Amino acid sequence: MQTGKIGVTSENLFPIIKKFLYSDHDIFLREIISNAVDATQKLKTLAAKSEYKGDISDLKIVVKLDKKAKTITVSDNGIGMTEEEIEKYINEIALSGANDFLEKYKNETNAIIGHFGLGFYSSFMVSKKVEIVTKSYKEDAKAVKWSCEGNPDFTIEEIDKETIGTDIIMHINKDSEEFIDENKISGILEKYCTFLPVPIIFGKEKEWKDGKYVDTDKDRQINDIEPAWTKKPADLTDEDYKNFYRKLYPMAEEPLFNIHLNVDYPFNLTGILYFPRIKNNFEVQKNKIQLFCNQVFVTDSVEGIVPEFLTLLHGVLDSPDIPLNVSRSYLQGDPNVKKISSHISKKVSDRLKEIFSSDREQFEKKWDDLKIFIEYGMLTDEKFYDRALNFFLFKNTEGKYFTFEEYEKLIKEEQTDKDKNLIYLYTTNAEEQYTFVEAAKNKGYDILILDDVLTTHLISRIEQKNPERKFTRVDSDVVENLIKKDDKEKEELSWEQKQELSPVFQAVCPENNNHTFIIDFQDLGEDGVPMVVTRSEFMRRMKDMSQSQGGMNFYGDMPDNLTLVVNHVHPLVKKIIDSKNKKLGTKLELANAGILAKKRDLDKIKKEEDLKKEEEKTEAEKDKLNELNNELAKLEESKRELLKGFGKQNKLAKQLVDLALLANGMLKGADLDKFIKRSVDLIKK
Ligand code: ADP
Repeated sequence: MQTGKIGVTSENLFPIIKKFLYSDHDIFLREIISNAVDATQKLKTLAAKSEYKGDISDLKIVVKLDKKAKTITVSDNGIGMTEEEIEKYINEIALSGANDFLEKYKNETNAIIGHFGLGFYSSFMVSKKVEIVTKSYKEDAKAVKWSCEGNPDFTIEEIDKETIGTDIIMHINKDSEEFIDENKISGILEKYCTFLPVPIIFGKEKEWKDGKYVDTDKDRQINDIEPAWTKKPADLTDEDYKNFYRKLYPMAEEPLFNIHLNVDYPFNLTGILYFPRIKNNFEVQKNKIQLFCNQVFVTDSVEGIVPEFLTLLHGVLDSPDIPLNVSRSYLQGDPNVKKISSHISKKVSDRLKEIFSSDREQFEKKWDDLKIFIEYGMLTDEKFYDRALNFFLFKNTEGKYFTFEEYEKLIKEEQTDKDKNLIYLYTTNAEEQYTFVEAAKNKGYDILILDDVLTTHLISRIEQKNPERKFTRVDSDVVENLIKKDDKEKEELSWEQKQELSPVFQAVCPENNNHTFIIDFQDLGEDGVPMVVTRSEFMRRMKDMSQSQGGMNFYGDMPDNLTLVVNHVHPLVKKIIDSKNKKLGTKLELANAGILAKKRDLDKIKKEEDLKKEEEKTEAEKDKLNELNNELAKLEESKRELLKGFGKQNKLAKQLVDLALLANGMLKGADLDKFIKRSVDLIKK
């Protein structure tokens, strides 16, 4: 037997392994098994080059748990190691500058492991002693056993071993006894080893016998050595892709599409991405993509590694160019990883374009489920936005789908306004905004359905990029004004007329803290609707945005600003105006005369005052002016009250406002009840 010291430049390697690597201790098994996989792969390569003539038909890795001895053993029948190789690869693990590095990365366990080739040594996280029993494939190689107890001292001795390959025997330490558990080991194997390219055996297949599960003679292989992504797309059927998806996510619904990536230049990348079928809340489903390096699972938290919007996708990515053992922050900064990321984005858009072009019908069928991904991509990835213009679809209220280009052609004629802007009309809910949708349709306009959570953001983006395209929701104005064209002259009310009519209608608008109503008068034609309630596009978008961004803020807290548009040429509205004149006739005249007289008095004094210098003005004159102003305000207020009083009594006005509210789905509860009763009354008359 021979003894020696492991060539670590730093005595603190073992303490570091034990302490700092502690939080991540599951990965010791991944490291040891990865080495075993490498060893078998190397033997395969040698056999292919005829440098090894033995049998390679049964390459495998066996994981054994010995509860009594408290050991975990990983055995492979790969290339094995000679004594010299152990000396070189296991004993001399130190690298220059090790101390600096360890100091710098002591909190990033993965980084240390990867950079140092500490893979094997990670076994000391959980072991008080590790033994390597190995026999090299090389002719005349002697089998050796290396043993080390978690300090720089090791022993090495020749032993008898029939077969070539390596056993790593880990004597689990007291703190890590949780690993001496079948379920625990199964769990780790499932996580990291499910798709390794060499059979991994752990225990036996079980069968149900005499009321319990018992082991059979058959080895239990825990992995699929040829997962779908490693095969050629041509060799896979739709069903294969679906089956693979089910294997990855047993609980998920069938996916919409898959994209098989197969890149070998300028880097190696394979994988299958799936567009999942999602329900309303896509947040919860984020980050389901699993990242592999040569079939070894690396991580399933891919944020920063794949393009943001792809974190909504499912599936696997495998690249030997994604460094296996480095920390996430390292990965995110890695230029290779960045290249991979933008490449994936391109591949995804290429594939979508392909599906769109080859089977548009299918694509349209799935669009409603698919669009959220596309929209998210367009919002978060500039390049993707540009590419998506080829297959992004608009859906109109007839259920027809159009590309950007097609839609532009469709609406160009009818929906270009006098300033040459192309106006895209849309509804977020065709049921609730039915009256407006119908009105716009009757005018020969086409209406899009833009109804998901990203809509407001997306249309703002489109407008930003195309200043001559504007999106307008159908209920943001009366139909005549949705697309402003140089139409015939309209009958306008004077400012005074408006002043006198506003209080009448203000009086019948619902009063609460959530809404404020502005009264506007417009000529919508005698056959137009008598009244419409609209909501300004700008305010609504601001509110939507602040809502979807969560939290309270300025716009979110503002009351909803609504406009009651009164069609003053409509016969029913005219009837209200006439009745106002009749009912309030003399009273109004008196009020107006009073106001006029007050104004004259005021004007007179003001004129006199204007001629005087500041120091010549007396206190008495100033008081007089104030008094007159107050009196005028009072007169105006009482006129408004007079008008409001009339409005409140006027059933027709109330009825028309309620009808307008009803068309917006805003008439509810007690107000709706009153409306119905009033309607019955009016019909009876
Ligand atoms: P890395 O795998 O990153 O090179 P390790 O410390 O895990 O670092 O392993 C060091 C070396 O020891 C490997 O490169 C390999 O040459 C050798 N080795 C480890 N495990 C085995 C094994 N099961 N069979 C053959 N060689 C092995």
